[in-house]
Amino acid sequence: MGFNILDVAITGQSSRDACPGALQVHPAADGPLARVRLPGGDLTGAQLGVLAAAGDGVLELTSRANVQVRGVRDPAGFAAAVAAAGLLPSPSHERVRNVLASPLDGSAAFRGVVRALDEAICAAPELAGLSGRFLFAVDDGSGDVAGLGADVLLMSRGDRFAVVAGNTDLRLRLPPAEAVHEAVKVAQNFLRVSDGAWRIPEGAFEGVPADLPKPRTSGYVGDFGETTGALVPLGRLTTRQAAVLAEAAWLRVTPWRTVLVPKGTRLPDGLVTDPGDPWSHVSACTGSPGCAKSLSDVQADAHPIGPPVHWSGCARRCGRPRGEVVDLIATPSGYQRSTT
Ligand code: SF4
Repeated sequence: MGFNILDVAITGQSSRDACPGALQVHPAADGPLARVRLPGGDLTGAQLGVLAAAGDGVLELTSRANVQVRGVRDPAGFAAAVAAAGLLPSPSHERVRNVLASPLDGSAAFRGVVRALDEAICAAPELAGLSGRFLFAVDDGSGDVAGLGADVLLMSRGDRFAVVAGNTDLRLRLPPAEAVHEAVKVAQNFLRVSDGAWRIPEGAFEGVPADLPKPRTSGYVGDFGETTGALVPLGRLTTRQAAVLAEAAWLRVTPWRTVLVPKGTRLPDGLVTDPGDPWSHVSACTGSPGCAKSLSDVQADAHPIGPPVHWSGCARRCGRPRGEVVDLIATPSGYQRSTT
């Protein structure tokens, strides 16, 4: 595998990676904020209940299919509870288990690849040094997560997987176990020469440009066979809503702020199952009062405008989905539309 050291060194970043985790909580304006990684978006109802019980009443679904807990009352107790619930298999690697996976594919074979990748990441000691922003993805061939900007992508091609590093197809077509091994090797090779860079930059690996689909901007609302997808507007789930969802036999968080559950599962008020609902195309950062940088109460201001829109309290645009999305950014004189 070829690797261009110069390209990575140029994009190196020296500032500390303060990406929150279950153990490294972020001091948000509304209290400690924890982020729990859910490889493939999978969690049980009981695990959701544990997360909901730890905060001030709000869980946030992230664009990487993870869950944030706001206002964690007791960070040490939270870490213990998360570990006891089976959501902290590797304390050293807890922030680097960022693994997206095609949500609708619940087959044992596909989920097995996702699990194997997570386990292989945790079994590689040096990968604890990855940034919390480094992203793996496993796509079942549908292309739904392939366009979401993963650093290392395994793309199903029949019974094999293509391996993509950054935007480069490494021209490998490997059986699942070898593909998982290769994904870890890519991350290890990147780390060796990354010089502090958080993400794999363009052109870092030798290969051919990957033919990746456009990013989806919303996903899986309504019935899909025996699975129902429910939109969680703005990705905010109250404790009360979570308590109802916790009755589900299984849950899968998607990168589009939707939750998949078995068809027939009781859903809480406020979740949306109409695929035509305009809230499918609305996302927002935390804004005030949770974020001290915000110039507005973004969550209260956000509403559908027609095309996919992301509302932000400042120019950082946290949580912005990839793809063609209108940005509305708060300024002292109201929201401004940004085209960058
Ligand atoms: S976009 Fe700005 S205001 Fe919104 S959460 Fe991020 S830093 Fe805070």
